[in-house]
Amino acid sequence: MSEQRSKSDTTSWQGFSTRAVHAGYEPDPLTGAVNVPIYASSTFAQDGVGGMRSGFEYARTGNPTRRPLEANLAALENGHYGRAFSSGMAATDALLRASLRPGDHLVIPNDAYGGTFRLIDKVFTQWGIEYSVAAVSDVDAVREAIRPNTKLVWVETPTNPLLNVGDIEALSGVAHEAGAKIVVDNTFASPYLQQPLTLGADVVLHSTTKYIGGHSDVVGGALVCNDEELDASFAFLQNGAGGVPGPFDAFLTLRGIKTLALRMERHSDNAEKIVELLTGHPAVSSVIYPGSESHPSHAVAAKQMRRFGGMVSVRLKGGRQAALDLCARTEIFTLAESLGGVESLIEHPGAMTHASTAGSLLEVPDDLVRMSVGIEDAADLVGDIEQALA
Ligand SMILES: *Cc1c(COP(=O)(O)O)cnc(C)c1O
Repeated sequence: MSEQRSKSDTTSWQGFSTRAVHAGYEPDPLTGAVNVPIYASSTFAQDGVGGMRSGFEYARTGNPTRRPLEANLAALENGHYGRAFSSGMAATDALLRASLRPGDHLVIPNDAYGGTFRLIDKVFTQWGIEYSVAAVSDVDAVREAIRPNTKLVWVETPTNPLLNVGDIEALSGVAHEAGAKIVVDNTFASPYLQQPLTLGADVVLHSTTKYIGGHSDVVGGALVCNDEELDASFAFLQNGAGGVPGPFDAFLTLRGIKTLALRMERHSDNAEKIVELLTGHPAVSSVIYPGSESHPSHAVAAKQMRRFGGMVSVRLKGGRQAALDLCARTEIFTLAESLGGVESLIEHPGAMTHASTAGSLLEVPDDLVRMSVGIEDAADLVGDIEQALA
């Protein structure tokens, strides 16, 4: 197995953007290429039996395009170890298998990402895993949900699609008091806005499909941690179960990362403008955005986030039909699942991303619309929502 480490181990650069552009890679010594080549090779020649030239033997175990991505992801999260997966769900699956054994219990948010809930509820329960749900915004509720056999506290913040905010520092304390590990799904915030390892979390999980990739053109996932043993168990599952990204996917994700800071600033600027329009609008019953002072956990969000990101949810006075109408009438906002790309997207969680939660503890309100505010011109985006609500 390749143990090659690269430049990101020296996280001596303080600046996030400098790390985003440079960590994990130096110009290729042979050609001087300033970008990571796409190493489309499944196997690597050996100098004699077991004699690896550069730490690579087989591309499931390690690939020279994937490795710089992993080092870069670690640097972005201020962590020691990064592992890239073929999707956010593959990363979730690896983390659950590395952390839990039959008879173990975990606590998950009452509005966890639908796919996370589905994997735990439909697959892991078959292997003797138990779970309880609790609101991430309620530290006492999470503490009360913990049992003697709790091994993992799952946190998502902000959550999808209700944008609830959990206090990462306080929840880390609660998990550690109970001898459990805590993972934070940092997909909605991105490492530019929030760095859970520095607040006490054991593992950060990403769907790099979203803000990290940033262009809606690649699916991927990541796990970052500071614990060598835990990282070794992730690496074992990368190799042992094979949920790894191909070199082209790794290249695209790295390419997206270089502009992460710029994009997150623009996403946040534009989301603030949309929130301004929606706040007090006659068709709107409530605007949900962690950056709004009216958000119930605004103080916690302000404490742990640099800014508040590009996700805005809104509830409409006209109920389900008004929500569906808003989704149908936008022209720049594209009706689609997913989020975090440069283009603005709009969706109805109850009928789309979160349809699988209907009738469960995680059901979402049917007058809710979720927007992933892109990086287009703010005036055009505001105008689009304005006409769609008219
Ligand atoms: C999309 C998403 C996932 C799953 O990631 P995929 O890359 O789609 O497999 C997990 N958590 C959150 C918060 C997400 O938005």
